[in-house]
Amino acid sequence: MTDEVHPDLPAPAPARFDTLALDPKLLRAVADQGYETMTPIQAKAIPIVLAGRDVMGAAQTGTGKTAAFSLPLLQKMLRHENASMSPARHPVRALVLAPTRELADQVAANVKAYAQHTLLRSTVVFGGIDIKPQAAELKAGVEVLIATPGRLLDHIEGRNCVLNQVEYVVLDEADRMLDIGFLPDLQRILSYLPQQRQTLLFSATFSPEIRRLAQSYLQDPVTVEVAQRNATASTVEQHFFSVADDDKRRAVRQMLRQRELSQALVFVNSKLGAARLARAFERDGLKTTALHGDKSQDERLKALDAFKRGEVQLLVATDVAARGLDIVDLPAVFNYDVPFNAEDYVHRIGRTGRAGQSGLSVTLATRDDSRMVGDIERLIKKKIEIEPFEFDDERPRRPPRRSRDDDDDRRSDRFAQRGDERSAQRAPADPLFDRPYEPSGSGTPAWEVSQPAPLNPRRTVSANIKPRRKVASLLGGSRG
Ligand code: AMP
Repeated sequence: MTDEVHPDLPAPAPARFDTLALDPKLLRAVADQGYETMTPIQAKAIPIVLAGRDVMGAAQTGTGKTAAFSLPLLQKMLRHENASMSPARHPVRALVLAPTRELADQVAANVKAYAQHTLLRSTVVFGGIDIKPQAAELKAGVEVLIATPGRLLDHIEGRNCVLNQVEYVVLDEADRMLDIGFLPDLQRILSYLPQQRQTLLFSATFSPEIRRLAQSYLQDPVTVEVAQRNATASTVEQHFFSVADDDKRRAVRQMLRQRELSQALVFVNSKLGAARLARAFERDGLKTTALHGDKSQDERLKALDAFKRGEVQLLVATDVAARGLDIVDLPAVFNYDVPFNAEDYVHRIGRTGRAGQSGLSVTLATRDDSRMVGDIERLIKKKIEIEPFEFDDERPRRPPRRSRDDDDDRRSDRFAQRGDERSAQRAPADPLFDRPYEPSGSGTPAWEVSQPAPLNPRRTVSANIKPRRKVASLLGGSRG
């Protein structure tokens, strides 16, 4: 494998799509989307893909990578365009493999949009939903197939699709496919494909495993890299607060109120944690839904749609479930758990502050998180200041004597963890702790607030201001 940066790097000024050797049908579709100029990954990758080279692209979701591979592949497939009703005239020519159902669905929607003025057919297959309608669509013939690996193997075994005429393969978010454990499935799928083909691999990182994968399946690829979106996060206001586990929900509720956040994505590290936390926020009166791998596909798509329509205020998600989501205009991301993997931090905060808008990222860290916070600090190459979270309610959280009916956050959490539905019927005994979130009347997105509200307003009015301390001292670590 040769790692070579393509010599035709784009000029600094954003290049227009109409400078590309793309068919007017594709250019019209791009214009329909409202795009005029290319993103960096598009400007770099499209000419290389058009030239027929294999590509190893370091780009994550949000950079415009889907168009970067779809447009040139559609261009190359136009020679097969035909109006025949015969399935034999519409064999699979391009196969896009994606790690999650949501990403596959999103890629498929983009491909459909870009191919809308052509006769090329595309479809998507993923698990968790009825296989029969997918099988029928495959049997009718499609030129572009977008799939998650497991479900694709089911279709291959069911003889619903034949892949012996595949000319183009895209491994999208390859790092995540390996993380999920799809390597054996990928190897099997790739073994069914013709050796003579063009292969594109996109990954947020080029780990040794990704390089090995590329070495096995790509031929003399051109490496294309774009700066990690939001790696410097100039449009994202990042805060780290030191908050005990038991106080995190209260901290989130307070921030939602103070910053008048209409919506937020809340990241946790486990599927179980996501379900529990979503239930707990619901009990707090916040319209919340959870997005994690244990939900059925239908439930996940419904949850995502409800969130996108603004019907749900909080979406509690795990990294795998949220990877690849294109949720635009999201004002805030909470890292309820500090991610185990520092790169996930960059992915998470990349959900906000998109397209130059300002966004807010709030990470709630406990003493046990100092190593992971240090990893993030090294990755983003920025000093992280961990601030103590100042609750606007100064009363002690656990008064010495409470009646049996009193139910503080911690106890609610315990009930939630047991899945004890009775806790949902308990009257909130502490109106300050348990008061449901009341959305602000205006619903003004965070980025439209000209002067950001102070995160801890008390800091500006109280003489009792705690000095900022460094990560290590707050989290009990040794770094200064
Ligand atoms: P992707 O990284 O492919 O998931 O794309 C992220 C978002 O950027 C999607 O909402 C795309 O529709 C959008 N997008 C892709 N290309 C462009 C472009 N050239 N100009 C503006 N937006 C784009």
